[in-house]
Amino acid sequence: YQAKAEGGGFRFYNPAQNRYTRQRLSTLQGLRRALGQGELLLHYQPVLDLRTQTLRRMEALVRWQDPERGMIPPSEFVPLAEETGIIQELDLFVLEQALREAQSHGLEFSLNLSARNFHDPHFVELAAHLLQQHPLGRGRLWLEITETALMLEREKAIHNLQALRNLGARIALDDFGMGYSSLAYLKHLPVDMLKLDKQFVAGIGNARDEAILHSVIALGHGLGLEVLAEGVETPRQLAWLQSAGCDLAQGYYIGMPSPSGSGGFAFQVPLGPES
Ligand code: C2E
Ligand code: MG
Ligand code: MG
Ligand code: MG
Repeated sequence: YQAKAEGGGFRFYNPAQNRYTRQRLSTLQGLRRALGQGELLLHYQPVLDLRTQTLRRMEALVRWQDPERGMIPPSEFVPLAEETGIIQELDLFVLEQALREAQSHGLEFSLNLSARNFHDPHFVELAAHLLQQHPLGRGRLWLEITETALMLEREKAIHNLQALRNLGARIALDDFGMGYSSLAYLKHLPVDMLKLDKQFVAGIGNARDEAILHSVIALGHGLGLEVLAEGVETPRQLAWLQSAGCDLAQGYYIGMPSPSGSGGFAFQVPLGPES
């Protein structure tokens, strides 16, 4: 029996797997409800300009305020949304919400686009439509895309980037250094900024990580791009990045993601005179 079952490709009933499936289904139903009933909201994390010591922009990060489970972080629902296609609705919700909230603050802002959406021509069309409806916000909008997203179907990716850029959005390569992009490819990409992954910042103090950071900052500048370091958690990391010529920084030490889109952040670091 056993051998035949395995050969035939069917499996015995597995209670643990069943529980897992049920849990996913209930998360999925909850997520559908969350989108319909306004349980999703944006937190914003400040980005510090290291050259002027001023607030430069803020990144919108989605949160799910579940009436029973409380605040749920994106790591617990974005992957599932990506697998099930709900991510299109989710990212469009975030885009529209951020564009709307931008009417009450004069700052630049960024948001994250899932790789899956980025390759869907329908999504790009809908996103372009939203940008056209919000002319005031779109010139201050940055879209964060991971390098892995751009590696698949490169020609199409470049075309989509151009379309969004032509409408006023600027593009940041998120988690830079973690994906598989080749340096030869980078020169063809219409991007405006590199966001160094927090793993490298965590390695400040280690000679190898510092060598990588120095190289990527030089690479970015050589290509005419701004370089932002993510995940700054200590004053020492901040000082190192500043002296290494990094342009921008973001992290818990500088400011936590918070519900306010109005720019009322609690900064850890002293800001310059302009702010
Ligand atoms: P990401 O875009 O790379 O965002 C940075 C993540 O690092 C955020 O986690 C942020 O809260 C966290 N972070 C900020 N400063 C620090 C720090 O100093 N130390 C450490 N250890 N972490 C820090 P969050 O908000 O949980 O988001 C996780 C990921 O979920 C994001 O990574 C992004 O890939 C994705 N995500 C967030 N919002 C959206 C969205 O609206 N749409 C899509 N498709 N993905 C989203
Ligand atoms: Mg991001
Ligand atoms: Mg990142
Ligand atoms: Mg990330």
